[in-house]
Amino acid sequence: MPGRQIEAVERYGKFMLLRLSAAQGENRVVGNGEAAPASLLVHLGMTGQIAPIPAAQPREKHTHVCMLLDDGRELRYVDARRFGRIAYLTKALLAEELTGFGADPLEVSKEEFAERICGRRARIKALLLDQSVLRGVGNIYADESLWRAKIHPARLGARLSRKEAETLRRVLQDILRKAIVLRGSSISDFLDAEGEPGEYQRHHRAYGREEKNCYRCKTPIRRAIVAGRSSYFCPKCQPSPRGSAMLPLLRHGKNRKEKDNAETRRTLRPRRSKRRSAEK
Ligand SMILES: [Zn+2]
Repeated sequence: MPGRQIEAVERYGKFMLLRLSAAQGENRVVGNGEAAPASLLVHLGMTGQIAPIPAAQPREKHTHVCMLLDDGRELRYVDARRFGRIAYLTKALLAEELTGFGADPLEVSKEEFAERICGRRARIKALLLDQSVLRGVGNIYADESLWRAKIHPARLGARLSRKEAETLRRVLQDILRKAIVLRGSSISDFLDAEGEPGEYQRHHRAYGREEKNCYRCKTPIRRAIVAGRSSYFCPKCQPSPRGSAMLPLLRHGKNRKEKDNAETRRTLRPRRSKRRSAEK
């Protein structure tokens, strides 16, 4: 990537999108598409961190990528558990990659949200986590918004009233905005680009609070598997749908991080077959 500038850093669902300029100066290759603007699509997985660090500073353990910047720093990607992904994409590949994403939860209109949720016979928890429905909502913020909206995670999208859907959209947006201001939730060792931990975890009302009292009604919060994920909810404030069969509760500490980051593997899968055919 020599000669390119990072022109913008954008949020795209759970991904970070670094927009790169065309290659400048002696690195510019006339008539070769390689010099055109491109992007880095980054997913931090569970433990990834990306930050500019002085090049003279010793590299931390688990440093997987170093990109030398012209100010003497290195953009370093550190990831102990290696669930993260970085993809270098040309304009066409980026466009293709982004077509599978759903609506931005912070920008989605009342009508579009209702359309994406209320027309579906899937559980509301699964719909919130489905990145082709909404992009960027993860397990924590799904549970938090369902608790605020008093909606049981196992209810079907199609069974929500328009009013419930609108309440859910509003609280989801409130929660995401607040979480962004507070730099997210640090569950294990998440640090943002400035190396600061997030603070939103102090505001959790459901997630991670199994057997602790509900902030509204004092009933102990429960945990169950819904849509293949740990789901925390208040059995009183969030009444279960009639006739719903819930999977048995998990024991403490077992499979807490199940399925985490399966989506990064899906989304940033190696494109070997395509590359091979392009080279021919
Ligand atoms: Zn409650």
